[in-house]
Amino acid sequence: MDSTAMIIELAQSGAPIDMVLFADTGSEKADTYAFIPVFRRWMDAHDIPSEIVQYEPRNFKHWPPYDSLGTNMLTNGTLPSKAFGRGSCSLKWKVAPQDGWTARWPPAVRCWAEGGRVVKLIGYDCSGADQRRYAHAEGYADPRYDYRYPLRELGWSRGDCIDRIARAGLPVPPKSSCFFCPAMRPNEVDALSKDELRTIVLMEARAKPRLRTVEGLWRKPVIGRRGAIPRPGTMTAYIRDRGLLPPSEVDRIVSDAPLALVAFQAAQADKPVEQRMSMARWLDMFNSGQAGR
Ligand code: SF4
Repeated sequence: MDSTAMIIELAQSGAPIDMVLFADTGSEKADTYAFIPVFRRWMDAHDIPSEIVQYEPRNFKHWPPYDSLGTNMLTNGTLPSKAFGRGSCSLKWKVAPQDGWTARWPPAVRCWAEGGRVVKLIGYDCSGADQRRYAHAEGYADPRYDYRYPLRELGWSRGDCIDRIARAGLPVPPKSSCFFCPAMRPNEVDALSKDELRTIVLMEARAKPRLRTVEGLWRKPVIGRRGAIPRPGTMTAYIRDRGLLPPSEVDRIVSDAPLALVAFQAAQADKPVEQRMSMARWLDMFNSGQAGR
C-alpha cells in the first residue's frame, strides 16, 4: 500500500519512474492479487513500466515441486524465517529476484558500466513499523544502488498513504505481505479468506514438531502492556479464539492434515520429478476438502 502511494505521488508530481518491480512470493494476500492488475492499468495509463518478478525454485530433490514461499514452507515443515527473527525469506523471495532482474536490465547495465548507481525508491513511511524496518535497512549498503525513501522525505504516515491512493480514485489495497507473514497484525488476520486461514493452521501444525524456540508464526504471546496489541504466539489460537474458522475445523486440520501431507509427499518421493503432483495442486485439494483435513 505504501509503495502504491509513493508511486502515485511521484508520478503526479512529475518525477521520473523508469521501472516498477513487484516481487511476487506466490503467497501474497488475495486482495493484493486483485489489486495488482488494477494498479498496473493505472501505471500503464501514466506511462510507468512495471514488471512482476518471482523466485523460481529448481532443485526439488525428492519433494513435490513447489512454486511459492507458502508451499516451500509446507514442503519443508517449517515457518518463514521471519518467525525466527531472521529475514532470509524476504531476501530469497523478494530482494534476490528484483536484483537478478535489474542485473539484466539494459538501463541498469549501462548505468553501472558508466560508473553510476541505480536509484532504488523504497516505500517505507514514517509510522512505527516502518520506522523499525528503516532502522534495520539503514546501513545496508550495496555499492550498485543508492536508496531513497520518498515517503519519509515527505513525512507521510500510513494514513497519508491511504488518503493519497483514495484521492487518485483507486481502491485502497491491503498492506502487501505474505498472507501468513509473522509481521502481520491481528486485524490483518481478521481480513483473510477462509482458504488463507486454513493454510495458516496447516502451516503451523505441520511445522510444530520441529519448533523449539517459537510457538508459531507470532513467535511468543504478547500480553498487551504499554500499548502493544495482545495476541497469542500462534495464529491458529487466534483464528480459533476469534471464531474465524469453526473450532471443529481447526481441530480436524491440526490432527489430520499434517499426516495427509506427509503421506502425499512420501507417495511422490520415488517418482521422476516431472510426474510428481505439485504442492500447489495438493493445497487446492486440501482447501476443497479432498486432501484430508
Ligand atoms: S512478507 Fe513476511 S513472510 Fe513474506 S517474505 Fe516478507 S518477511 Fe517473509
